[in-house]
Amino acid sequence: MSAFAYESYLNASLSEQDPEVYDLVQKEKHRQQSSLELIASENFTSKAVMEANGSPLTNKYSEGLPGARFYGGNEYIDVLENLCRKRALEAFSLDPAVWGVNVQPYSGSTANFAALTGLLAPQDRVMGLDLPSGGHLTHGYQTDKKKISSSSIYFQSMPYRVDQVTGLVDYDALEANTHLFRPRLIICGASAYPRDWDYARLRKIADGHTSFLMADMAHISGLVAAKVQNDPFEYCDVVTTTTHKTLRGPRAGLIFFRKAITFSDGESLESKINAAVFPACQGGPHNNTIAGIAVALRQAASPEFKVYAQQVIKNCKHLCDVLSSAPYNYKLATGGSDNHLLLWDLKPLKLTGSKVEKICDLANITLNKNSIVGDKNAVSPGGVRIGTAALTSRGFVEQDFTKVAEFLHAAVQLSLDIQSHCIQQKQQQQAEGGKSGSTVVLLKEFVSAATAPEFEQRIQGLKDQVSEFANSFKMPGY
Ligand code: PLP
Repeated sequence: MSAFAYESYLNASLSEQDPEVYDLVQKEKHRQQSSLELIASENFTSKAVMEANGSPLTNKYSEGLPGARFYGGNEYIDVLENLCRKRALEAFSLDPAVWGVNVQPYSGSTANFAALTGLLAPQDRVMGLDLPSGGHLTHGYQTDKKKISSSSIYFQSMPYRVDQVTGLVDYDALEANTHLFRPRLIICGASAYPRDWDYARLRKIADGHTSFLMADMAHISGLVAAKVQNDPFEYCDVVTTTTHKTLRGPRAGLIFFRKAITFSDGESLESKINAAVFPACQGGPHNNTIAGIAVALRQAASPEFKVYAQQVIKNCKHLCDVLSSAPYNYKLATGGSDNHLLLWDLKPLKLTGSKVEKICDLANITLNKNSIVGDKNAVSPGGVRIGTAALTSRGFVEQDFTKVAEFLHAAVQLSLDIQSHCIQQKQQQQAEGGKSGSTVVLLKEFVSAATAPEFEQRIQGLKDQVSEFANSFKMPGY
């Protein structure tokens, strides 16, 4: 390659080398800055984490573990991975004589599959919180018709659920079913559960069948590090997490394991988990990401992070209070929240989560539709999930969430008006045709009605207000 080609090809900036991708990055940055990010699984990581994540560490192969690699040139990568492991234990106040950690999983899903691979034999029995109850796919999810997740394809799965009235985990039913199913592993933790976990009760249930107990604390790990949630490490054998939710790091996963556990074949849990990550489930670790995790874990052990985590919870409680009290009086699953997320039950309004998600999206409010206890139709869930972790990273406090509640209320009122308009139109058409029929409004009819000028104008008005408000806050890392 000529010197000219080298400079223009390998050393050019992104904007010079690839304006198309550069432009998309700029647009996404602008979208993040000018919208209200309420997706409970997202956060805004720090500049230092992004710098580590975008560093030349991405160039290096390092299959294996520190001191036992399959490639040369790992003298700094070994130090980095050991530093990351040390910080992971420190961030959760764990004794290195009792707990070990693997920091190589590429994501939460691969961390969970590797943990299952290490703990279980193929077709062993697993019980996890069902997806419609707020559990994650990787906790054994399957439907009546299909095994969806590899955790149900390669293992036998029987879910436990939340109580259909209270929305709280039904520990009694779980316990009763363990007597029938005799699981080898019970998984706790969730993607959409607004309450804390009773790990002591779960340990007792697991001990009744010499089952392993694993917590997937992906959503709440930042809150656990800050000691504002119950501590899963007190009772569990294995704890997995993502690193990019409340922990506010880069996108990856971690697996913590108790070092003292050994299997009947004499192999330790530590050795099984490490072998499950590599070579069973993954190849070379993403060292740039491990550097980002190390940075995030150092931050998570700081007093500033504790203040952040406390504020995440205060903001969520405040948003719950505002939405559920006068003048709004909206219904929340379980009546509120102990953590960073709430589930808004839209069924009393006769609205679906998909419709509200759509209008919010058009108005620069980012959240997601979610099943709510009592939903009959999994395809069209009856609520939305809202989280406070990302906006708290932008400096939002309680009074800012009062404003967020106002915007959410406006989006819901708009959704109701669009839906009423659709129903009226249907009734009119039916009257004109001398017919009677269903007035159920399909999502595509609803979306089409939202483009009518009167609604488009109202949506644009809300979007302008939301953008102005969101833009008045700083963005971490930009
Ligand atoms: N575990 C839980 C509880 C989650 O909520 C998620 C993702 O949202 C995951 C695991 C999977 O993480 P990832 O998307 O990094 O694979």
